[in-house]
Amino acid sequence: MATDDLSSQPGSVAGSHDAESNGRAAELLREIPAVSAIMAEAKRLGSGLTDEALARVARGELDDVRQVMLQGGRLDRGEIERRVRDAISALERPRLAPVLNATGVVIHTNLGRAPVSSETAEAMRATAAHPVALEIEPESNERGGRMREIAGLLRALTGAESALVVNNCASAVLLTLAAVATGKEVVVSRGEAVEIGGGFRVPDVLRQSGARLVEVGTTNRTYARDYLAVTTGETAAYLKVHPSNFRAFGFVHSASTAELAVLGREHGLPLLEDLGSGALLDTTRFGLAPEPTLTGAIEAGADLVMASGDKLLGGPQAGIIIGRARWVERVARHPLARAVRADKTALAGIAATLRHYARGEAESRVPVWRMIGAPEGAIRERATCLAADLAQAGLVADVEAVEATVGGGSLPGETLPSWAVVLRSVDGESIDTLARRLRLGDPGIFGHIDQGRLLLDLRTVLPEEDETMARSLRRSLSP
Ligand SMILES: *Cc1c(COP(=O)(O)O)cnc(C)c1O
Repeated sequence: MATDDLSSQPGSVAGSHDAESNGRAAELLREIPAVSAIMAEAKRLGSGLTDEALARVARGELDDVRQVMLQGGRLDRGEIERRVRDAISALERPRLAPVLNATGVVIHTNLGRAPVSSETAEAMRATAAHPVALEIEPESNERGGRMREIAGLLRALTGAESALVVNNCASAVLLTLAAVATGKEVVVSRGEAVEIGGGFRVPDVLRQSGARLVEVGTTNRTYARDYLAVTTGETAAYLKVHPSNFRAFGFVHSASTAELAVLGREHGLPLLEDLGSGALLDTTRFGLAPEPTLTGAIEAGADLVMASGDKLLGGPQAGIIIGRARWVERVARHPLARAVRADKTALAGIAATLRHYARGEAESRVPVWRMIGAPEGAIRERATCLAADLAQAGLVADVEAVEATVGGGSLPGETLPSWAVVLRSVDGESIDTLARRLRLGDPGIFGHIDQGRLLLDLRTVLPEEDETMARSLRRSLSP
């Protein structure tokens, strides 16, 4: 392959020293348009970018094109111009625009996890747009803590003495371990030294915190006595980790939060619990397996509990740390706390979300719970309506019973009965091309392909989005 590193071989073209091929390359390079011509064309098409930005994008793109050509790739003028045009329009259109999640995965990490309630979104917008009394007490005009509101809400909801909110659950765990156990040992069950996904591995996080991992028990069975057997003067804490995205069943046992809390107290050691999903509602009420709750962990005696804000809690990205006041204070005072602190919009969003729970309205307001709790019959009705709407536009769509999942590293193997609109490709277009067309629609729609058909699961679309979805589908599907 002629892919020699050109930068280390000045003067050579694609590793060839042959004059004739040099000539051909030079000829190809002449296909590359001038930066000024690209800029003029972009302006003609109404680009709102500055001359400087346009010139940099054009130069960057053309450099890439030149590299491709020097390595033997062939790009004609039309292709080159299309590449540059795409690069420019990518800067002009926001990529993080709202899309519709019709994947049937309620908490879809690649689609930004939990969508928040309209009240939460408004609280975040207002907080972002204006100054807020983040660290000032309006009454006294003195400096105040940024956690007051959230700590109050979390105390009311879980019974925890104190709370701290940081960037995400991964940073909550890292910070907690660093504050509690640097230079000392943390005991973890072999069944819980897990990888959650996206680079979060319990043993690695422990190492980064400066703590030493002591694994106990076996992959399938660990008892409280296993923790006791390795408890020494070097032990700083016991760590319990919710395995989140996998489930062991059969001949399994793990020590409960309550057992480990008692053992910890007997030895003056805190029990830390990484819950991950951070549920505040009982999932069994929705026909699902039980997912540990923040309240349950506090009531069982955990000293510090960590969870995500954007999984089953249903708020914006954040890491929640609740527990005993003296431990929370120790975590909050650690220098790393500043490095992973949550911004004002996240704090406002978490507070607004928690307020839904405090008012007992989470099921009807928090999108994650609205999606989980939606009755199957209502979803079927919506799917039927949508299919009928498409039929009116001359498009063929069926409805089909499907199974949605909760996702977000919670409730593995659990499904929720749902209904999907089923699209088939027509006129020889591949199903992948059809799916791509929908993803690039306005707004984009993400479904999933199953047996050569595109399924759009309506459990993960809110009823108030149906109209938008129908419009986007009609636009994308009409010839
Ligand atoms: C998801 C998860 C994390 C990571 O949470 P982020 O909010 O993504 O940082 C950590 N621990 C557990 C047990 C999890 O399920």
